[in-house]
Amino acid sequence: MKAAEIVARSIVGDIQTEGLEPGTCLPSEAAMLDKYGVSRESLREGLRLLEVQGMITIRRGPGGGPVVGSVDSAHLGRVSALFYNMSGATYGELFEAWVWAEGELADRAARNPDAALRVSTMSRFVVDGAHVEPESLDSYLEAHAGFHHAVAKLSGNRVLALSLEAYGQIVAHHVAMVDDPRKLNDVLLDDHQHVAKAVSAGHSRRARELMEEHLRRVVEYCSERLNGTLESAVEWL
Ligand SMILES: [Zn+2]
Repeated sequence: MKAAEIVARSIVGDIQTEGLEPGTCLPSEAAMLDKYGVSRESLREGLRLLEVQGMITIRRGPGGGPVVGSVDSAHLGRVSALFYNMSGATYGELFEAWVWAEGELADRAARNPDAALRVSTMSRFVVDGAHVEPESLDSYLEAHAGFHHAVAKLSGNRVLALSLEAYGQIVAHHVAMVDDPRKLNDVLLDDHQHVAKAVSAGHSRRARELMEEHLRRVVEYCSERLNGTLESAVEWL
């Protein structure tokens, strides 16, 4: 293994064992050079490796430096998209994987044995009455991802949650590039409400079906707007 990879692995190991939260500053370059006993070049390459994967962010300029990042499926999605792109995988395949993945997560979430947790996690998505219009596209995408993230977390398996959520992160990111999905807002929030109820009640089959229906609606909407690109390879954005 290259020195840069070894130092990257050591830094991740230290973040883990010291339980450093996202946003925590890592030691200064001088301190890290001393600690890891590598060249400045290897240390910087190692940090850059971690930055590309989203494990850390590097603040430039005075007072800057490496900061612990979050374990986020969006980063995994970005890396995965490169693989899909290189393999020639299409948007059609990505959508198919996404529908299946979210259905699987909803099914597992509904089977989470902690009924009180299911109800409390889903309660904020079960809101009757008028929906609040999201102000910005970013806050809309965040709210939408928030629901799917909550379902994924309830699935109770971090490997599945991270891996399967990555598909949705790619879709959201790519679709936001070609169209403003806020037009679909009311329909989607109603869908979320129905899935949330099924998950709360522990109805796994229904949760899966409703989630798949929900995503097929989104896919249909996206397909119309991506006209023709369903057959084209997933881009690395
Ligand atoms: Zn949704």
